[in-house]
Amino acid sequence: MNIVLNVASAVVLVLLTWVMLSRFRQLRAITQLRLDLVAATAARDASERKHREILDRSLQGFYQVTTDGRFLAANPTMASILGYESVDALLAESAGVCERMSVEPSQHQEFMRLMETQGYVSGFESALRRRDGRVIWVTQAARRVSGDDGRPYLEGFIDDVTSRREAEQIKADFVSFVTHQLRTPLAGIRWMLELAEQGELDGDTASCVEDARLSAERLIALVNDLLDVARLESGRVLAAPEPTAIVDVTQQALQEMAPLAVAREQQVTISTEPVPPVLVDPHLARQAILNFLSNAIKYTPHGGSIHVSAIQDGNAVRWSVRDTGIGVPSVSQPRLFEKFFRADNAQIVDTEGTGLGLYLVRLIALRAGGSVTCESNEGEGSTFTLTLPVAQERKAVA
Ligand code: ADP
Repeated sequence: MNIVLNVASAVVLVLLTWVMLSRFRQLRAITQLRLDLVAATAARDASERKHREILDRSLQGFYQVTTDGRFLAANPTMASILGYESVDALLAESAGVCERMSVEPSQHQEFMRLMETQGYVSGFESALRRRDGRVIWVTQAARRVSGDDGRPYLEGFIDDVTSRREAEQIKADFVSFVTHQLRTPLAGIRWMLELAEQGELDGDTASCVEDARLSAERLIALVNDLLDVARLESGRVLAAPEPTAIVDVTQQALQEMAPLAVAREQQVTISTEPVPPVLVDPHLARQAILNFLSNAIKYTPHGGSIHVSAIQDGNAVRWSVRDTGIGVPSVSQPRLFEKFFRADNAQIVDTEGTGLGLYLVRLIALRAGGSVTCESNEGEGSTFTLTLPVAQERKAVA
């Protein structure tokens, strides 16, 4: 009996010890879990603090804003760029504050349109009115983000570029002033040379006078291009975007250019499907198309061919001119739309070019919310494409 009791007590003891041991192990595991959790929370807090410090110290303004223009978050630089004494004061603003700050309503509409259509902007420049009424220029990189609740908001960085814009403005004013002053006397010189050409001149004098007139015409073209560039760069061209029938503009431009193409025995063709009107200033569109066409004629040898087309591509119209000309060397293609840039092969064909035409076209396209591209093989030809937004689509978003 005693033996049985002793065995039973031993079993109970062993069981108790085992239970206590597993309980102890459980407690130790729970404690370890707690310690791990505390460490993970501390690490997360430290990481969040670090990110917050980076944003707080950033020289760029950072913001998150709802699509109806209410600030969700901002860093101190953002508040200070916009003239607020604190982030809280900025966050306290009611919905629509972004639109109210915008000096040019069209810039705000353009920003929202790009966010809607492509979901991001980069290097977007616009004028804002600070809280103290001072107008500043900012550049933004921002994107559209989907929140946890599924609602979209906008998140971005902002830089104050007012001093650069002011310096550019002074330069543009200077160029405008000089070119403007040059225009009248140059027109006078051309007129007098034209008169002289109508008189009785001997062979040598006649050819000198003709050379002088052609030089005056080139100078007038250069001065006009410089003036246009200065106006477009400073945003002072009174662009009046309206629904524009791009095919009609093309037909008129082709008529204007026809004598040049005929003189070079080039075949010019056009094929378009019915395309909707695009939203662009018709005068600027005409200027862009004339530039593309005159380049195609200039850089295509005698007897070559030029083909113009326009197609709808979603919310945009893609207008293209394809030629069988000298083409653009691949090394020059990335720089083609830079101011004053001319490829080496073009300088041999035409020594008088300015390298302003394509730059001007790019400014016009960007101004209208469009873009320009070039595809080319040297020696085979080029295709230049101007993409412009469809008028109805743009209106609907604005
Ligand atoms: P410009 O014709 O006065 O040089 P642009 O700005 O119109 O100035 O053109 C810039 C450069 O782009 C030209 O010098 C030439 O190198 C290249 N280019 C433009 N159009 C064509 C074309 N159709 N074919 C080949 N090269 C072209």
